Amino acid sequence: MKDVKGIIVFNTGSSSVKFALYGMDCLNQYLHGTIDEKPDGAVCSFVGDKADEFIDFVPPKTGGHAVMIEALLDGFKTYLPEVNTVAAGHRVVHGGDYFDGPVMVNDDSMAKMEDLIRYAFVHQPHNIQAIKAVKDHFPDLPQVACFDTAFHRTQPQLATMMTIPKEFYARGIKRYGFHGLSYQNVADVLANEEDKGGRVVAAHLGNGASMCAIKNGKSVATTMGMTVLDGLMMGTRSGSVDPGLLLYLINQEGYSPKDIEAMLTKKSGLLGVSGISNDIRDLIAANCDDANIAIDLFAYRAAREIGSLSVALGGLDRVVFTGGIGENAALVREKIIEYLGFLNVKLDNDKNNSKAEYIHSENSAVRIQIIKADEELVIAKAVKALLG
Ligand code: ADP
Repeated sequence: MKDVKGIIVFNTGSSSVKFALYGMDCLNQYLHGTIDEKPDGAVCSFVGDKADEFIDFVPPKTGGHAVMIEALLDGFKTYLPEVNTVAAGHRVVHGGDYFDGPVMVNDDSMAKMEDLIRYAFVHQPHNIQAIKAVKDHFPDLPQVACFDTAFHRTQPQLATMMTIPKEFYARGIKRYGFHGLSYQNVADVLANEEDKGGRVVAAHLGNGASMCAIKNGKSVATTMGMTVLDGLMMGTRSGSVDPGLLLYLINQEGYSPKDIEAMLTKKSGLLGVSGISNDIRDLIAANCDDANIAIDLFAYRAAREIGSLSVALGGLDRVVFTGGIGENAALVREKIIEYLGFLNVKLDNDKNNSKAEYIHSENSAVRIQIIKADEELVIAKAVKALLG
């Protein structure tokens, strides 16, 4: 009965677990889905050929990620008996200087992942919890950790440096960059192009948002830094702010570190600027001044970063949009690209408003492309490469 070797992939965030099940041989996806923790309990949704069979499968409403992951693994055993799960792969946000590619989970790599919680205290504990939940349930199942930082390890030293005293760099206080699995997916898609896409600025615009300068398939610069807070304006995160702001808030307004953390990570970005929502769909629908200024600021900051990354690349051949906003919000793409008109970077408005892959106009100086984010596939490929 169990004739297919399967790989389970977990992409565990702070309030959701995305998961997918692949056949090891051809990396065909059996199903994928999301468990979202809402205030009134968890909501599980599945997509895929077998999704209907999961309809009566409901994860526990409470108990956190570990309990939900265990319920999911039981669900797979029950509803996909033909799949023999032989490995699990996980997205792990921070690999620091320890990891420049995917690794097997063992005591040593777990200790290093735990050490890096200090840089990614919001996301890394959830990633580690998912690995532990799988280990508790299937102690002998090989597991692979794939890091969002690893893709950026090819960056030149200058791109990784902060302008602070040098002893900090030696202690690992430097720019690492994130969303690396998404950028690896972009690089994989562009690998078939003769020039590997040329000099590419890839924009991963979702709840978290960043951009990456990719040359010959490798990261040369990115907007996120030591933590996921740097760079672009995001759903609830500020992105870059004047560091003097933090000193001012501490010294003049009595803010505590916790107050600052809450403000910059949960109350800023699209939500903070609009006062309405972190979801761009709500802001587009609201169509009022507060919503419009938030969208405009998001696009303005993004366009300026394309300029900065183009300098790091020494030119620009292609802009790629990916992530929930990048793939779906035509208005945001339009507002960003409008700023690049002076460089002769131009959208074809009809294509931008359709589901086309290439959305630049015929006389545009660079290509503009939409690539669907698929971090789960990148993880499955890594598992197959290590274990297949
Ligand atoms: P995450 O960073 O959590 O993985 P996603 O990449 O899924 O986030 O992006 C989530 C965001 O994408 C949502 O907050 C919303 O703003 C935007 N989004 C998703 N679908 C659409 C859509 N159909 N139209 C416009 N925006 C969308």
